[in-house]
Amino acid sequence: MAKDYYKTLGVEKTASPEEIKKAFRQLARKWHPDANPDNKSEAERRFKEISEAYEVLSDENKRKVYDQTGQVNFGSNGSEGFRWQDFSHFSDFSDIFDDIFRNFNSGGSFRSGFGGRDTRQLDLSLSLSISMAESYRGAKKEIRYKRTVECSNCHGKGFEGNDVRTCPTCNGTGQERVVQQSGIFRMMNMITCRTCTGRGYIGSTKCHVCHGSGKKSEVETRTIDIPAGISDNTQFVMRGLGDDENGQTGDLYILVNVRNEVGYTRSNFDLITNKEIGFPEAALGADATVDIFGEELKFKIPAGTQPGEAIRIRNMGFPHTRGTGRGDLLIRIKVVIPKKLNSTQKELVEKLSEELSSKRSWFGK
Ligand SMILES: [Zn+2]
Ligand SMILES: [Zn+2]
Repeated sequence: MAKDYYKTLGVEKTASPEEIKKAFRQLARKWHPDANPDNKSEAERRFKEISEAYEVLSDENKRKVYDQTGQVNFGSNGSEGFRWQDFSHFSDFSDIFDDIFRNFNSGGSFRSGFGGRDTRQLDLSLSLSISMAESYRGAKKEIRYKRTVECSNCHGKGFEGNDVRTCPTCNGTGQERVVQQSGIFRMMNMITCRTCTGRGYIGSTKCHVCHGSGKKSEVETRTIDIPAGISDNTQFVMRGLGDDENGQTGDLYILVNVRNEVGYTRSNFDLITNKEIGFPEAALGADATVDIFGEELKFKIPAGTQPGEAIRIRNMGFPHTRGTGRGDLLIRIKVVIPKKLNSTQKELVEKLSEELSSKRSWFGK
């Protein structure tokens, strides 16, 4: 089937050269593989199609042949289809490709935008284990970790002496832009500057402290505040506490694990614990206490509490980490039946049993 170049560019058969050029510009911007990093192969196919269509329709003679015969032969032997060598307009559109590169750069692949540097490689991570009590109340924790910082003797320049100057290749950014031609695709990449190996400075005398690396490793100690209510497997980030190199700092990611504690369960922001009571307290109600991570909390057992029932105490659960308020405390009641009774107790329970069965009120209300 013959190719419909007009359809490919989305223009009428009567389109003017300006309209054709405009359509191509729009589509090239949309389908350039650099602008479609997640969909590269589809983008490459579409980009080649629109380039072929434009190559034909932008050329008065080729367009005439195509309009008459429905096809155009590329290349000298005529049998081959469109190849990238056949595209003769690349330089006309370098502005588009520069734009794509700029957008591509600021669009997330490089954090600091055009000319900036990807600082993700400077990020550090560590994990921290805390008890459930610490997550209930919040805690201050000391962390110690190794990070790379700039050498204080040469201030990260790697050189010392009188002739230290900004690298002329990268203007001190440490990054060099390289354009690789692959067919029609000009792949534009930022690489570490080859003149200064990324330091941004050149000179003749290497710093005697860091031997030219511009950096040193140091142990950082920090006390960090763990907010009350933090749940297991929560990651938070401390900006600027990652590696510090060439004037760029990464972030420190801290993964918090909360250890399980026997007798306590967390459900969302509620704290669940258990309390064993005797039959008389369950039946009559009582004042009781429950241990919440080492602190005694007073609460009331209502008369007629059933085994397994949970007594809810509002706002005594985990604090919400976002916004205000807290979850509830749920005290699950376990009624313990004595395994042995002395004679007095036995007598009393027998009496109670008789009394209850005569009134048929054991199960009823
Ligand atoms: Zn450089
Ligand atoms: Zn140094």
